[in-house]
Amino acid sequence: MSSLNPETRNFIGGELVDASSGATFENVNPATEEVLGVCADGTKEDADAAIAAARRAFDETDWATNAALRAKVIRQFHAALEEAKEELRAIVVAEAGSPVLLTHAVQTNAFIDAMPYFAGLAEGYEYEKPMSDIDFMGMPNRRLLRHEAAGVVGAITPWNFPLYLNLCKLGPALAAGCTVVLKPPPDTPWCATTLGRLFAEKTDLPAGVVNVVASSDHRVGEILTTDPRVDVVTFTGSTATGRRIMECASATVKKVFLELGGKSANVVLDDAPFEQAVGFVGTVCTHAGQGCAIPTRLLLPRSRYDEGVAIAKAAFENVPYGDPTDPSKLMGPLISRKQQERVLGYIEKGKQDGAKCIVGGGVPEHLPKGFFVEPTLFVDVDPDSTIAQEEIFGPVLCVIPYDDDDDAVRIANNSIYGLSGSVSGGSEERALSVARRIRAGTLAVNGGMWFHEDTPFGGYKQSGVGRENGVLGFEEYLEVKVIGLPGNS
Ligand code: NAD
Repeated sequence: MSSLNPETRNFIGGELVDASSGATFENVNPATEEVLGVCADGTKEDADAAIAAARRAFDETDWATNAALRAKVIRQFHAALEEAKEELRAIVVAEAGSPVLLTHAVQTNAFIDAMPYFAGLAEGYEYEKPMSDIDFMGMPNRRLLRHEAAGVVGAITPWNFPLYLNLCKLGPALAAGCTVVLKPPPDTPWCATTLGRLFAEKTDLPAGVVNVVASSDHRVGEILTTDPRVDVVTFTGSTATGRRIMECASATVKKVFLELGGKSANVVLDDAPFEQAVGFVGTVCTHAGQGCAIPTRLLLPRSRYDEGVAIAKAAFENVPYGDPTDPSKLMGPLISRKQQERVLGYIEKGKQDGAKCIVGGGVPEHLPKGFFVEPTLFVDVDPDSTIAQEEIFGPVLCVIPYDDDDDAVRIANNSIYGLSGSVSGGSEERALSVARRIRAGTLAVNGGMWFHEDTPFGGYKQSGVGRENGVLGFEEYLEVKVIGLPGNS
């Protein structure tokens, strides 16, 4: 592992700056509880200056209309990310407690590799095209359909996949011609501030196009949702905060784009190869279960319930977890003491509500330091109970029995969320027909993977509004304009 070389200053108006108050806050390694270092503690005044800089860059430079410049800067940014990749990997592991194993996919490499895709969208997208001619009150008319950059974007991100989430907001927003104020969470500030340094030192990004304001105060993020100079808020985080953001953004009628929580179902059909379909459920503990799209409800047919539970139990007893710098581990710590206590609280609630905890259920004795929770398996879970309904965001799986395919679909859809899910079956056709009936934004059938930079990702119901990534995700950062012109009579 490379040594840490984080940027600890914010990035405002093209400059790397300390907080206007001079204050800093501590960045803690969740695996060791040691203080890694500090970060500039951005203030409301800093957020205000960042919004002003982003507004000026949008209104007074040609960033919004110069697609060739945008593609060039995104490619320079890609080269800078490649050069800093090992340092970024080390930061992700240290501040997010992510297993290093995951950094070779979503946590680090995947969206560094995705930057050329966004550069390609910037220069290849058809921003203006003719529509069909129309007659209006007997007069012929032509029409032009235009897509234009939506303006200043407030991007608010969480700590679980910090680098990926910062990049999957910056990539398409910049490609579309927007300017950005990025507000990372207090738990993982360096995954954002270090990007500020790369922009400052390695690209021709015009001043103010990207601004990064880290802060220990969530209210600094809230300014992005109320300030009239911000046109779009893109947010990834909890559904509770998403609701608050929607409410705050309503006063200035901002475009709001939300990627929120999930409680996805993994439906195993009675004709599925169980060793394969259930044998991998330990992956629910990937990154200690801190992933919004993880299928945390396992739905097993009553006819093969005991067999499925035995396989799930063995899988949970063998989850490799511990030191996230060890490449053999799938699971590290929770992000903070607060999250550890929250997850333990849900485990207690599950027990009180009558679910059977057959693996884990506490803090591992062999890991006294760090915010660890044991891989925890609950069986005989009531589908309406708290642990089956609320997002735990920890290494906890709830096993729920079902009667037939209709019952499985009903239970899978019995959720305020609709982010993701999976279905396994002996017949792809039958599994696919079940997948089509689940109200969620992404589904895996028989282990098929959907994650890619051109896959639109997002949720139904209270899992969000809008889609991230792909052309649809890029278009979230564009406004639509139609221009009418006299036709040829
Ligand atoms: P969170 O909602 O507490 O915080 C996310 C971000 O919002 C942080 O930067 C925080 O500082 C900021 N914030 C908090 N209150 C705010 C307010 N009132 N106004 C503006 N900003 C505010 O979420 P978290 O605990 O950091 O992350 C975990 C949650 O994120 C989980 O629920 C998870 O499912 C969800 N998540 C969703 C996706 C997705 O794509 N759907 C991806 C990752 C995480």
